[in-house]
Amino acid sequence: MKSFDLNGKVAIVTGGNGGIGLGMARGLAAAGAKVVVAGRNAQKSAAAAKEIGGEAIEVDVKSEASLKALVSETVKRCGRLDILVNNAGINIRKQPQEYSLAEYHEVMNTNLTSAFNCSQLAYPEMKKSGAGKIINIGSMMSIFGASFTTPYATSKGGIVQMSRAMACAWAKDNIQVNCVLPGWIDTDLTRGARKDVAGLHERVLARTPAGRWGDPADFAGIAVFLASQASDFLTGTAIPVDGGYSVQG
Ligand code: NDP
Repeated sequence: MKSFDLNGKVAIVTGGNGGIGLGMARGLAAAGAKVVVAGRNAQKSAAAAKEIGGEAIEVDVKSEASLKALVSETVKRCGRLDILVNNAGINIRKQPQEYSLAEYHEVMNTNLTSAFNCSQLAYPEMKKSGAGKIINIGSMMSIFGASFTTPYATSKGGIVQMSRAMACAWAKDNIQVNCVLPGWIDTDLTRGARKDVAGLHERVLARTPAGRWGDPADFAGIAVFLASQASDFLTGTAIPVDGGYSVQG
């Protein structure tokens, strides 16, 4: 299975210190990549990096200066950058009329603008080495709407289109840009949602053909596939990893 081998590759996973990001980081590390775990919480990042034999670098993805420092520090410590997983994300749950503009921007900057910014910063490193893989994280809210999640759904719809546009631009540089659309996964993010949104837990179980919530470990395989040579002819896609949630009629 040489085409899945990531030995010698260097990956950044934003928000790689917990939840889905850590699930992906574990997969990439198991396939041989050196993984930079990039988050705000230094303690969480250090623990994750230690577990997977990677590096921890503090970042606030909302800040261009912080993202610049992340990419340059990665190249300084690890020598190159082959794989970027734009995973950091937040949600603020309200009805559309209740958001302040600051809250809207907080979600958009964290979930979407950061991915644009970090991909731009990673591009020269990938172009230099003649190959690159960018994995963006969408959501079921890239496909569906929900009353309590307007800025989040806006960001997650946008990231699919952003991935397609970058995929077209950078295919000639042998850089593939794809999007993963998680279903309902048991993480800190959704623990909050389950508390706030009455009946959500049961509705997810009833609608998911697999009959369970997803686990961060469900993202190791897709991360390795999209980061490896095995997916070299795959770009601009948006792949649901959702236990069938999005195909249930
Ligand atoms: P978690 O809350 O467990 O993880 C979110 C991660 O994002 C944390 O590691 C956090 O790091 C990081 N993060 C948030 N804001 C920033 C910031 N400003 N700068 C740097 N890092 C930041 O949630 P999930 O694992 O569930 O979410 C991961 C991604 O998956 C998100 O994009 C989310 O939208 C998406 N997703 C999740 C679904 C689910 O059901 N769980 C479904 C669909 C999509 P730190 O703690 O250090 O701040």
